[in-house]
Amino acid sequence: MLSYQQARAIVVSRLGALTREPQPESIALLHAPGRILAQEILSDRDYPPFDRSIRDGYAVRAADTHPGATLRCLGELKAGDSPSTAVQPGSCIQIMTGAALPPGADAVIMIEHTKHDADTITLDRAIKSGQHVVARASEQSAGTSVLKKGTRLGFAQIAAAAQVGASQVTVYRKASVAILSTGDEVVDFTTTPGPFQIRNSNSVSLAAQIAELRAEPFFLGIAKDTAEDLRARITAGIQADALILSGGVSAGKYDLVEPVLKEFGADTVFDAVAIRPGKPIVFALCQGKPVFGLPGNPVSTMVTFDLFVRPAIEILSGTDPSSFPLLEATLTQRLQERSGLTHFLPALLEWGSSAPASADSTRPRLEQGKPGFDQQNAQLEPHAPSFPAPRVTPLSWQGSGDIIAMSRANCLLVVPPDRETIESGERVQVLPRGL
Ligand code: AMP
Ligand code: MG
Repeated sequence: MLSYQQARAIVVSRLGALTREPQPESIALLHAPGRILAQEILSDRDYPPFDRSIRDGYAVRAADTHPGATLRCLGELKAGDSPSTAVQPGSCIQIMTGAALPPGADAVIMIEHTKHDADTITLDRAIKSGQHVVARASEQSAGTSVLKKGTRLGFAQIAAAAQVGASQVTVYRKASVAILSTGDEVVDFTTTPGPFQIRNSNSVSLAAQIAELRAEPFFLGIAKDTAEDLRARITAGIQADALILSGGVSAGKYDLVEPVLKEFGADTVFDAVAIRPGKPIVFALCQGKPVFGLPGNPVSTMVTFDLFVRPAIEILSGTDPSSFPLLEATLTQRLQERSGLTHFLPALLEWGSSAPASADSTRPRLEQGKPGFDQQNAQLEPHAPSFPAPRVTPLSWQGSGDIIAMSRANCLLVVPPDRETIESGERVQVLPRGL
């Protein structure tokens, strides 16, 4: 059976081969957070556009500076002023943060390092040429690339676009992703279920995961466990850029998703991955579209989306699949899981001191030379850097139907397939992503 890494790599390579560049659309920059650039954004001018002071102080010629030097102050420059007066040998101009360095000056001495008296200042030190100045074009030259096509616009990228005047940007249209829940027992989440029915939470979690990727969820409702109903809804779903089904992919008598997809000419790429939760998972290509049949248990649906559907939607959206950010953490309690499968367990990742505040750590610090000073502690306190490894604690849960445990988790603890027991204190991998 495929490992999750192999399955993910297969999804990425099949999607890469399948996907054409999405259609572009032009939108206001303010509406663009999270969207994928369909254009390259070039710098409209040099950044900074002038030699910029980054301190409040005096614009000087570095060659004039030494402790005790006095300079005649010729005027002042605030941010936004046009510097017309040049700094002559033996002179300076008062300058504020963000102002352009005047001609003749090559450095800024901080106001704190000067004494001001009438129209002269006295320096307490020498400074180097270029000090406290960011040179014109040192961040970006006019006409060069600021943001590449395919970049996802986070807040910093939006700010960079704003800086270079890209108030309207060309981004890729959102990928449309159809969601189809299946199951005779599943009812709309806005209704009151009968005693043996359950609310459709999967369509909701899938829509949220899709929206996080700035793709467009498209609801196909809940299919009964009949070939007819599945057929009708899949016919609609295959119009979208991708189709995600939940439920109906195990080996039960009413698990009809795979056979019905076959009727549509779907080519099943894989239908099982060695993971728990989520082992029965179908990835198929159907009429040139990716189709995912995710297991119906809600935690399995969420986990398999994150592992396999996310990279597919990223590629469909015109960007590279994001990296898989596994962190290392120290396990706080012994774990025992069935080997042969990679387990993804809802867990809590915490940073901070590794032990609850002990009598020792709350004790007031003793100062060197004072009675009670302890030489060994002196090496640790007060300047010892502390970068404690995060700790991870699996949450108690009832398995892959336990949405509430999942809602309390901030990561998934990854138990590799070759480990049956992991002892408390061992290093383990966790997937911290928004779960
Ligand atoms: P299945 O994969 O269809 O065998 O379903 C596995 C389990 O997940 C069953 O207990 C279902 O009731 C539950 N389930 C299936 N679909 C959903 C859904 N859309 N929302 C919440 N739970 C579901
Ligand atoms: Mg079912």
